[in-house]
Amino acid sequence: MNNGIVYLVGAGPGDPGLITVKGLECIQKAGVIVYDRLASPKLLAKISPETELIYVGKSPDGHAMKQQQINQLLVDKAQSGQIVTRLKGGDPFVFGRGGEEAETLVENGIRFEVVPGITSAVAAPAYAGIPVTHRDATSSFAVITGNEDPTKENSNIAWDQIATGLGTLVFLMGMSNLPVICDKLVQHGRSPATPVALVRWGTRPEQRTLVGTLATIAAEARQAKFKNPAVIVVGEVVRLRDKLAWFESKPLFGKRVLVTRSREQASELSRQIEELGGEAWEFPTIRIAAPADYTALDAAIGKLPLYQWMIFTSVNGVKYFMDRLKILNKDIRNLQGIELVAVGPKTKAALEAYGLLVNYVPGEYRAEQITAGLKEKLKPGDRVLLPRADLARQILPQLLAEAGAVVEDVITYRTVAAAGDATRLKAMLQKRELHILTFTSASTVKNFVKLLAADNLQELLQGVTVASIGPITSATACELGIEVTLEAKESTIAGLVEAIRGSSKSKK
Ligand code: SAH
Repeated sequence: MNNGIVYLVGAGPGDPGLITVKGLECIQKAGVIVYDRLASPKLLAKISPETELIYVGKSPDGHAMKQQQINQLLVDKAQSGQIVTRLKGGDPFVFGRGGEEAETLVENGIRFEVVPGITSAVAAPAYAGIPVTHRDATSSFAVITGNEDPTKENSNIAWDQIATGLGTLVFLMGMSNLPVICDKLVQHGRSPATPVALVRWGTRPEQRTLVGTLATIAAEARQAKFKNPAVIVVGEVVRLRDKLAWFESKPLFGKRVLVTRSREQASELSRQIEELGGEAWEFPTIRIAAPADYTALDAAIGKLPLYQWMIFTSVNGVKYFMDRLKILNKDIRNLQGIELVAVGPKTKAALEAYGLLVNYVPGEYRAEQITAGLKEKLKPGDRVLLPRADLARQILPQLLAEAGAVVEDVITYRTVAAAGDATRLKAMLQKRELHILTFTSASTVKNFVKLLAADNLQELLQGVTVASIGPITSATACELGIEVTLEAKESTIAGLVEAIRGSSKSKK
């Protein structure tokens, strides 16, 4: 039997978090993904490189694959035994021609399943603070196509009935017919004072909302050059937006933020950005790798009882040290008697996860502060093990040595350049789709510049906010010709997020 199957999957309206669990599973298990313009590109960013991606939406010159060709493509791919995920914006059966695609599959004897999605008809108003129903305003809503030829004699739309017989009206694909839609509704009895909202690119950072009435909105939209893709919401519920516009008032609303940390470390920063209403785009510029040579680390682990102190400066340091300890057939019992220092709360938590108690966490995370705090505790001649990255700065061991300690700085992991493809990143910068770049270390800046390989770097970054985690990262950016807009007061991820948040607040 042929194992080919087609999943008709709703990708949701744009916010990548609005795909269903089942939809995401279909993306992950697909051999082929067939998608169009309205599916969020972020959903496709993490699929395995073996998955074939086929774009069937409109190209920049406005040319789209014909529906018949799409149908045939689905049939061919499934007949060749593939798992095909047909990803469609919103819900596949709401004006998505999903019904036609399903019919073709049935006619060709191909197995298929439908995974409904969150339709823009409901989600775009919701993200604009408009509930499509409300007990005080209306008890029904209708979703209507707005692209029916307005000059058609026998309209499929019963204007007389929808104008007065239904509550909230949501038109999709209606922007070019907006004046006609408003006229028809008024002609058939809706009050010209009925509030109307247009929501463009709902649920995305580009979301824009324009509010007017049936009498005014067409002119207002023309003036504001308001275009597709947008939903038109007609009804009293629009007034609730004044009270309920939650998304647009988030501190990082409208901001797409580039995260350049390693893949393993990116998620914490991304999560914090998204909590504040921004959209995080991960483009790892660095990768964490094991040391090229374990001689020094193994030697240090071989003589652990000699150390009075161990200072961990990162979560990676903890992870790679503990992994190596285990490989050498040792565990936390071999750390007995050693005072443990963690430079920050995350590193402390990483140690604690191994069942270790941390003796000291400096109030600030710079070498000077760490040493100042330790000075009173260190005794002359104390031996300190510093399991760190290969590119770590020399200042910490230097200062500790000046304070009388005997320091062993041992490479425990390496930071290497990631091998990413910057084509999409470049295009996004060109189109001004990225608003904030974040750099969390000097190496993220260096490798960002290397991977981007743009001879017009300054031009690409014009108007883009560049946020740096601290003075050393900023200095590297400056050397490479990148102007830093913001610098974190405290050199932590939380400090960086705070700086970004503060700047967007003051601009509002
Ligand atoms: N199946 C889709 C609709 C496809 S028709 C769904 O369920 O959402 C395409 C129309 O959907 C666009 O012309 C626009 O009216 C609307 N649309 C889709 N995504 C949108 C978004 N993020 N914001 C506003 N309107 C959107």
